[in-house]
Amino acid sequence: MASKELITALENTVLNIPDFPKPGIQFKDISPIFLQPKLYEAVIEDLAAFSRGKIDVVCGIESRGYLFGIAIAVALGVPFILIRKKGKLPPPFVSQSYELEYGTSEIEMREGQLKAGQRVLIHDDLLATGGTTEAAAKLVQKQGGIVTQFSFLIGLKALQGESKLLPYASEIYTILDY
Ligand code: AMP
Repeated sequence: MASKELITALENTVLNIPDFPKPGIQFKDISPIFLQPKLYEAVIEDLAAFSRGKIDVVCGIESRGYLFGIAIAVALGVPFILIRKKGKLPPPFVSQSYELEYGTSEIEMREGQLKAGQRVLIHDDLLATGGTTEAAAKLVQKQGGIVTQFSFLIGLKALQGESKLLPYASEIYTILDY
């Protein structure tokens, strides 16, 4: 869906930092996008176009999922709901635990913000293994939300995160794939 120009501009802007934060990880640094307001605007318009008319609410995953997720929601005129890491939200909240490489973690959402039957876009900056996003999908379903779409700026194809998300929704969009 993204134009060749947008993909090329992003390829030239997103930095690859080898061995950060651990040896073997190719960290994708999206921060230079924010130095180029026109590029940021084009990214938001592209992500908004994917979801226009299809969703009732955007749920963004802490913290880089907020950087684009809120702007997508504003562009579409729909609410934005924060999915936060454990311990950040005051009660009442709903939680979902998920497996990490070592141990488990939890994500949380304020209770009552998502209404049963709402069609949800789950957004994050990057899809790696899909573990965090899958937990977000479970959190949405727990509250009666309909997981309708997933969007990311970047997908790391080799990690096959999409396979974890397909049981929830088939509309999965990544602008840039590595
Ligand atoms: P996962 O649950 O494995 O799909 O991990 C996704 C989350 O981890 C996203 O919120 C990303 O921001 C972050 N992440 C994972 N791998 C990378 C990477 N190579 N570069 C930048 N961020 C990453």
